[in-house]
Amino acid sequence: MAKWVYNFGDGEAEGSAEMRNLLGGKGANLAEMASLGLPVPPGFTLTTEVCTHFYANDRTYPDDLTEQVAEALRETERRTGRKFGDETMPLLVSVRSGARASMPGMMDTVLNLGLNDQTVEALAAGADKRFAYDSYRRFIQMYADVVLGVDVHNFEERIEDFKDERGYTLDTELSGEDWAELVRDYKVIVERERGAPFPQDPDDQLWGAIGAVFESWMTPRAVTYRRLHNFPESWGTAVNVQAMVFGNMGDTSATGVAFTRNPSTGENALYGEYLINAQGEDVVAGIRTPRDLTEAARNASGSDQPSLEKAMPDAFWGFRTICETLERHYRDMQDVEFTIERGKLWILQTRSGKRTGRAALKIAVDMAEEELITPDQAVLMVDPMSLDQLLHPTIDPGAKRDLIGTGLPASPGAASGEIVFSPDEAENASGQGKKVILVRVETSPEDIHGMHAAEAILTTRGGMTSHAAVVARGMGKPCVSGAGTIKVDYQKETLSAGGRVLKKGDIITVDGGTGQVLAGAVAMRQPELSGDFGRLMEWADQARRMRVRANAETPADAEAARSFGAEGIGLCRTEHMFFQEERIVAMREMILAGDEIGRRTALAKLLPMQRADFVALFEIMKGLPVTIRLLDPPLHEFLPNTDEELADVAKAMNVEPEKLRERALALHEFNPMLGHRGCRLAISYPEIAETQARAIFEAAADVEAETGETVEPEIMVPLVATVTELTRVRSLIEKAAHAVGEERGKPPTYTVGTMIELPRAALQADAIAESAEFFSFGTNDLTQTTFGFSRDDTSTLLATYTATGILPADPFVTLDRDGVGELIQIATERGRGARPDIKLGICGEHGGDPATIGFCEEIGLDYVSCSPFRVPIARLAAAQAALRAHTDPGDAGDG
Ligand code: ADP
Ligand code: MG
Ligand code: MG
Repeated sequence: MAKWVYNFGDGEAEGSAEMRNLLGGKGANLAEMASLGLPVPPGFTLTTEVCTHFYANDRTYPDDLTEQVAEALRETERRTGRKFGDETMPLLVSVRSGARASMPGMMDTVLNLGLNDQTVEALAAGADKRFAYDSYRRFIQMYADVVLGVDVHNFEERIEDFKDERGYTLDTELSGEDWAELVRDYKVIVERERGAPFPQDPDDQLWGAIGAVFESWMTPRAVTYRRLHNFPESWGTAVNVQAMVFGNMGDTSATGVAFTRNPSTGENALYGEYLINAQGEDVVAGIRTPRDLTEAARNASGSDQPSLEKAMPDAFWGFRTICETLERHYRDMQDVEFTIERGKLWILQTRSGKRTGRAALKIAVDMAEEELITPDQAVLMVDPMSLDQLLHPTIDPGAKRDLIGTGLPASPGAASGEIVFSPDEAENASGQGKKVILVRVETSPEDIHGMHAAEAILTTRGGMTSHAAVVARGMGKPCVSGAGTIKVDYQKETLSAGGRVLKKGDIITVDGGTGQVLAGAVAMRQPELSGDFGRLMEWADQARRMRVRANAETPADAEAARSFGAEGIGLCRTEHMFFQEERIVAMREMILAGDEIGRRTALAKLLPMQRADFVALFEIMKGLPVTIRLLDPPLHEFLPNTDEELADVAKAMNVEPEKLRERALALHEFNPMLGHRGCRLAISYPEIAETQARAIFEAAADVEAETGETVEPEIMVPLVATVTELTRVRSLIEKAAHAVGEERGKPPTYTVGTMIELPRAALQADAIAESAEFFSFGTNDLTQTTFGFSRDDTSTLLATYTATGILPADPFVTLDRDGVGELIQIATERGRGARPDIKLGICGEHGGDPATIGFCEEIGLDYVSCSPFRVPIARLAAAQAALRAHTDPGDAGDG
């Protein structure tokens, strides 16, 4: 016979915390707490398998369920010394839903079930009439609402009218007789709305509530929530039936919720709220102001209402001890519900508590230091993405906020500065040492230099994947996007919101973590990269297998990458080095030259600049690997945009502007994504690749001579589709290596590899590996060329990329086996097949996505590379991936 029902109570239970899948989170933890001997009101759990059966069989129950529930009810009756429906000692129960993970959209809990016109009298006799009828009217209202679908406003209206009629203002003024009268009215309302009387038979009530819980598994809200969170339908929900305990039995009774540690700071101090003479969700309902649990919290909040510590010291100390027991047992911070009935403490729920990133970090490190958990467990406890909040300056929590408007929290961190409305102005002002906030309706690729110069970016239009948001995240700058209530007037150079007008030069603060825009400067907190953060990172580094590198091309980015713990550069994009003002003219000369001699002349001007760039990077990276990608974008991106710019180049080249214009037109690229770019450039114009390779080797030789340490650059050929392309470019590189070796008297040490960023390259990986010492998966182009986006609208992303070269990671895409990841896996296998020691890495924003990093660990990549600000996230994610590969994780989540 199948077992559908599990009992708990009186120091024992048929279930346990491990049985979360079967009993739901709430049920599993109630069973566990009962076994631990904690004061849990007795009851029983109908398993999630009943739910599965219910839906698999036309919404019917297993045959033996009725008998098993009746049996379990008898057990609960025995444990409480009460009887369900009894007219002298009635047992009342709560009916609570509970899936594996806590899930909004499910049925709300029904309390006080079992009350009817007879049992309410028994309850009154055992306590008092006011309490009994107050409980009864609560029950009718809840049951009518969640089981019978009667709108609660019917009941609320009735109470308001009733109070008006009697001249009452507060609920507490109602007497037992008053509540009894309201109960009569409530029953009339139910009959009017449902066409049937309120069920008086406790068994009918119980099965009605059980059915409502199972039905609620399929409500549209629950279905949507599961879809959003990837919870499978097959999980099902459990139902918990539990003896009632009463926090509303007068002034020695209370109900409350607590976190065993502070969920916003992580401080190891009990944190929570309670209400005297209250029931269930009164504490969170906001009708009465809850009080602080501890004296310390009461002192800090300045409340004049007594703390639980003061008001009910025995219950408080009992509760504190239980919280410690729970933490020790679950090895995590707990979120606990409790009720005190006439001085006696009961625990109604425990689950791991939700917390801020800051708290998660502190709790994990503290618990490891208290030896409650191991360092590895601490590493597994912190969500890598939550570190993002901690890596940027944030607004001091104590600071006063003068809010002007709110938009989307598009890129974390906070910054203050003077308002500027144009990118040029941003650049000029920052050149004068001013701190500015760039305020735009929206941004476009032409605004990049202004975004670079600004402390933060604010836009009034656009979403989380708008140009401003994507670029700001890549730059690690705070950004609030789509702040629609703020109006920008470029002409008047003003920003207005809610009747206030701010002008250019006025100071504002942008909080990219919350989306808030504030007037004036606000006190900031600098990110704390040592302390708890440093400890956790140390443990993560010990646990991880993959290396973590950064994508960086400027010395500033490289320095930032090092300070965040990057172990090399995974992607240095050389084209960015040519956009600077003093170089672009030489670059344009090179592009527009009619022949090889002309190109070589221009390249000779670029060589020392490029060499200096690499020297700077090699010096900062101190012998760590640096992957340098040869010139990649279509040349037309460097072409002069205006007549003025064209004239400048013509002058430098000593030719007619008209002639140049023709050539510029001829270079126009019709297919910027896949056209004349990448390795094809090097094939058409070998001297470009040769010069770049020479700059790299000379720089390496210079730094070696200076530091005595070997520099081993990794030269990466972009956009390869077949091995022939790679071998041709490789021979150009080898030629340069040979030449520099001769000149310097020592052959350079280096490797050559390619970026796998075309589906064809992934499939050709075995052939390509013959000529490649490493592969780096360029997941941005690979995602685009595979059409691997999660969203319908990829045009903004594509436009951003082609125009700026800024990594347009789709924040909603994770690389896994079912998509772009499959190509990576194929390339990995084929590449290793041809060259077992091939070095494999991933670059592109996906390299900083924790789920993708998990996938990279599974397929055994050697390293991931991401933007500098993501490096700590990647270090933690890589550590977790390595630890998970060795341990079987339990079913995470809460109940
Ligand atoms: P949720 O999943 O929304 O937290 P719960 O099932 O935990 O719902 O119940 C809602 C409220 O009712 C909580 O405050 C809980 O402590 C209280 N409650 C549930 N069962 C009982 C019971 N048997 N006795 C007293 N209070 C209860
Ligand atoms: Mg609820
Ligand atoms: Mg609860």
